[in-house]
Amino acid sequence: MKKETQIFKFIKEEEERQLRGIELIASENYVSKQVMKAMGSVLTNKYAEGYPGRRYYGGCEVVDKVEQLAIDRAKELFGAEWENVQPHSGAQANASVMYACLKPGDKILGLNLSHGGHLTHGSPVNYSGKLYQAIFYSVEKETGLIDFDKLYQQILEEKPKLVIVGASAYSRDWEYAKVRAAADQVGALVLADISHPAGLIAKGILNDALLHCHIVTTTTHKTLRGPRGGMIMMKKDFPNPFGEKTPKGEIKMMSALLDSAVFPGVQGGPLEHIIAAKAVAFGEALTDEYLYYIVQVAKNAKAMAKAFLEKKYNIVSGGTDNHLMLIDLRNKNITGKEAEKLLGEVDITVNKNMVPFDDKSPFITSGIRVGTAAITTRGLKEKDCVKIVELIDETIKNKDNPKMLSKIKKKVNQMMLKYPLFAEL
Ligand code: PLP
Repeated sequence: MKKETQIFKFIKEEEERQLRGIELIASENYVSKQVMKAMGSVLTNKYAEGYPGRRYYGGCEVVDKVEQLAIDRAKELFGAEWENVQPHSGAQANASVMYACLKPGDKILGLNLSHGGHLTHGSPVNYSGKLYQAIFYSVEKETGLIDFDKLYQQILEEKPKLVIVGASAYSRDWEYAKVRAAADQVGALVLADISHPAGLIAKGILNDALLHCHIVTTTTHKTLRGPRGGMIMMKKDFPNPFGEKTPKGEIKMMSALLDSAVFPGVQGGPLEHIIAAKAVAFGEALTDEYLYYIVQVAKNAKAMAKAFLEKKYNIVSGGTDNHLMLIDLRNKNITGKEAEKLLGEVDITVNKNMVPFDDKSPFITSGIRVGTAAITTRGLKEKDCVKIVELIDETIKNKDNPKMLSKIKKKVNQMMLKYPLFAEL
């Protein structure tokens, strides 16, 4: 076999990039070596269509144990009665839920993409906006907050089949109970997509979406610090409200509909190596060490938001309850696109992001989104977050001064040298 060199050279290059920079992309994190080891294991060789104990392939006795352990640990982590750990990604978890619960043309209600929502919550460029009739709720112009009383009324008036709560760029907590109360009045199902704050919810730092929402989806690679993937869960299983029956004439449980929607509805063979890595990450998330980590993630985000506000940066909603914040740069005379590029030059990675009521396109944007999940994994604390804000501010102020920018880059690299990656295990 020909020995591969090019790809491994690129992987090394990427590892060095991850090591020397400050990673502030709110949806990224660094997995442990043992999570990585599970991902790169022989489990990738195995086909296992179906579910533990009911597969369409032979030789599944070991992967059955792997998948069952992932399910059991996820149940313990989220206090859930039912879990499906097979979705390959957050987008596929959401697609599976919609496939199970909706018919083409049904009305869905999600958070406006330009106000922090996600593409899979009804965007016109996504299947969810093409297959279903998508309508949106918004944040308030004055406060940057979702007005849950207004959302309650909108649910009553619009009578959607599915209400989606959760976002990609909303820094505040959600009033799940109020949304559920409205949904119950019009017979809607509530899907909470907790992809971003999943770790904070699992550890009780934020309101528990599972307690109030019929179905919950998440990615496993953001605050949960697992492999790239998705998951669907329910606090409590319930008979499906669409009247779908088994061949024996019994009403199917919602879990059966969701399992069928993932496979064979949306996906083929599960990625058992990724499911194994999910199990490892859930095992890690069940420890006190992870609890300290996730508490620190939230503390770091608060410290960072405070430091930005002190330097007169506008944070949408004025602060954060979770691991991220959205910064409106319009008073700093720089677009999101320019800021992303400029900060990239000094090895600080952020992503440009629309801000609510943005006057610029999604390719330019007026804002950036920053998060603390990744830097906290590297061991950074509140005082480091204040330092990072100083570095960002210096960079933006010196955008036309290449000499200063190269000095800042050195400072960034020296700072991160003290926090090695993958040091543990
Ligand atoms: N849902 C939300 C709220 C997200 O933020 C994301 C990813 O950014 C997704 C779903 C999609 O996840 P994935 O990229 O794994 O498909």
